[in-house]
Amino acid sequence: MPWRRTRDPYAVWVSEVMLQQTQVPTALPYYEGFMRQFPTVRALAAASDQAVLKAWEGLGYYRRALHLHAAARQVAREHGGRVPDKPVVFRRLPGVGRYTCGAVQSIAFGRRLAAVDGNAVRVLARWFAITQAVTGTAVQRRLWDAAESLVPPSAPGDWNQAVMELGSRVCTPRAPRCPACPVRALCLARARGLQDRLPVKRKRKAIPHIEVGAGIIWRRGRVLLCQRPAGKMLAGLWEFPGGKRHPGESIPDCIRRELKEECDLDIEVGEHLVDVTHTYSHLRVTLRCYHCRSPRGRVRRLACDDARWVRLDEIPGLPLPAADLRILTALGIDRETARRATRGPRRRAANSALREAENTVE
Ligand code: SF4
Repeated sequence: MPWRRTRDPYAVWVSEVMLQQTQVPTALPYYEGFMRQFPTVRALAAASDQAVLKAWEGLGYYRRALHLHAAARQVAREHGGRVPDKPVVFRRLPGVGRYTCGAVQSIAFGRRLAAVDGNAVRVLARWFAITQAVTGTAVQRRLWDAAESLVPPSAPGDWNQAVMELGSRVCTPRAPRCPACPVRALCLARARGLQDRLPVKRKRKAIPHIEVGAGIIWRRGRVLLCQRPAGKMLAGLWEFPGGKRHPGESIPDCIRRELKEECDLDIEVGEHLVDVTHTYSHLRVTLRCYHCRSPRGRVRRLACDDARWVRLDEIPGLPLPAADLRILTALGIDRETARRATRGPRRRAANSALREAENTVE
């Protein structure tokens, strides 16, 4: 993995942020693309929010990208573009919590700090036979204390990475490979035969499921996209406008109401296009998407940060949430084609799909 072959604090930092809540195979191409586009803190600091979100498009948890960007700007402004090598200073940057601080500072600067991710939690809970739920505050403190006590003074970054790697490859959630484990002689869970029952996790509550009406609003060969407001989920990303269905409301009525409330726009709702279900960490959303038409009227930005009538070939320049990328696919625009549909035959193909889609509303 490329982030294992570098001590560049910025590269380590980017990888650690990406790997939070994302699996290695998913993060890898994003990491490579991100580092090509923003190879230094200064390059990231100089980029626009939209360029950063576009590079993060599809990776999810977009607040990570916005925090990283804000932190890079702060590093460029206050630290001459050098990632602070003092944990207390680094920890003050946006989005830098205990884990990110410990990982970056130990790997890049050799600071004797622990870094406890989900894999390390599993290893430690078994190693010390912790039988309480690992999500509790007191247990979290105990896990971090245990981790700190183990970090050696030399090569603490290698140690942290080794513990996390042990959790991902040997001390796996199911069927840990204890006979192959380098800490088997010390592991209390193994000695007590508890390794298959630890770590203890609280049962997750069922996540709510909501229905959202989304309009593909056409006007003279363009569609309306709205930018999600700052401070809200998916802030800064562009979406086909709409909103949550009220109890007893039909989806076409929901879309009409939402467009009036969000943009002060009167629309005609046409054919159903597609239903798209997407699961976030705390919410499951089904987008019920309809072609719509809005022949006239000025868009007012009442509940979004921006709104634009865009040609299809402009959409690849804007960052969209994963669910809206699937709506593009339903419009006959392959995601990769859409990404690259800027010239020649691809653009013509994209535009002919656009015209076809628009005709279904007429
Ligand atoms: Fe995990 Fe088994 Fe190693 Fe203990 S001995 S840390 S349970 S793999």
